[in-house]
Amino acid sequence: MKIIRTHKRKLPLSNSGNLSLYFIGTGSAFVKSLFQNNVIVVKGNQHLVIDCGTRCMEGLNTVNISAVELKNFLITHTHADHIGGLEEVMLTNRYVAHQRPRMILTETFEKILWNQSLRGGSAWSECHQGEPLEFHDFWQVLRPTLASGMPRETWSYRLGELDLLMPRTCHIPDSAQSWRDSFWSCAVILDRRILFTSDTRYDPELILAFDRLLNLEIIFHDCQFFTGGVHASLAEISQLPPKIKAKTLLMHYGDTWRDYQDAVKAAGFLGFARQGHTYSFPGD
Ligand SMILES: [Zn+2]
Ligand SMILES: [Zn+2]
Repeated sequence: MKIIRTHKRKLPLSNSGNLSLYFIGTGSAFVKSLFQNNVIVVKGNQHLVIDCGTRCMEGLNTVNISAVELKNFLITHTHADHIGGLEEVMLTNRYVAHQRPRMILTETFEKILWNQSLRGGSAWSECHQGEPLEFHDFWQVLRPTLASGMPRETWSYRLGELDLLMPRTCHIPDSAQSWRDSFWSCAVILDRRILFTSDTRYDPELILAFDRLLNLEIIFHDCQFFTGGVHASLAEISQLPPKIKAKTLLMHYGDTWRDYQDAVKAAGFLGFARQGHTYSFPGD
C-alpha cells in the first residue's frame, strides 16, 4: 500500500490502473473538523463515490471537484452523513448538467433510499400531468446480483475493472443481534482485497469470515472512542486478532482523534485513515 498525502490542485478521477481510495473525509456523523466519512475509489478510467454525506461536497470542493463530475455512486446506508450530499448531486445533474449519474443499489435499498429519504427534497421539483419525479428520473440504476458462496448476504457488481462485493452489516438499531435483523446497511469489498466496513457495530464475524475467504490486504474499519450505540468502539475492535489489527486503518472517528493516536498504535492497529490522503494498491 502506498499513501499519497498531497494532490495536484484538482483531484484526478482516473489513474494508470492501480486500485486507489481517496478519503474525502474520515469523520463521524457530527464532526466539525472533518468531512464525515466519504471516499472516492479510482481504478483506471473508473471512479466510484462511496457515500455522499452532508459535508461531502464541501470536502470535494477543497480538491476542485463539483457534483456534476461524479459519475458512479454506491451508498452504504441512509444516515445523513452518508446521503446528505445526494440532493445537490441530483438537482445539479438534472437542472445544470442535464445528465443522470449512475448508482449501484439493490431493489430493496432503492425503495428505502427513495421513499424514506430522497423523495421529500427532489420529487416535487417538477410535475408532469400531476405526477412528481421518480428515482429513475435522477439516476441510472446499476443492479448488483446476489453473490454465491459468501459467508452472509453479499451483493456483487462489476464496474469496469473494479470488482465490488457488498456484504450486509449490523449497524442499526442498537438492539439488532446480527446483520439479519438490522436495517439495510452494507460494507464494500474492493477487488476482493480491501474491506471498507462503512458504519458497523462490533461484528467480528464480518471481518474474520471475509478475511478467511479472501485474505484481505487492508481493512478500513469504523471506530468511535466510547462503547455503546451503533458503532464499533476502539475498546471492542481491540479484541480482534493481532494479525487483523496490523492491517486495519480506523475511520469514521470523532474530532478528538489526535488524543487516541498512541492508544491506537499500542492496541496494534496500523493507525488512522487520514482525510485528504489517497491509499493506493498496486496491481496483483
Ligand atoms: Zn456514519
Ligand atoms: Zn450510520
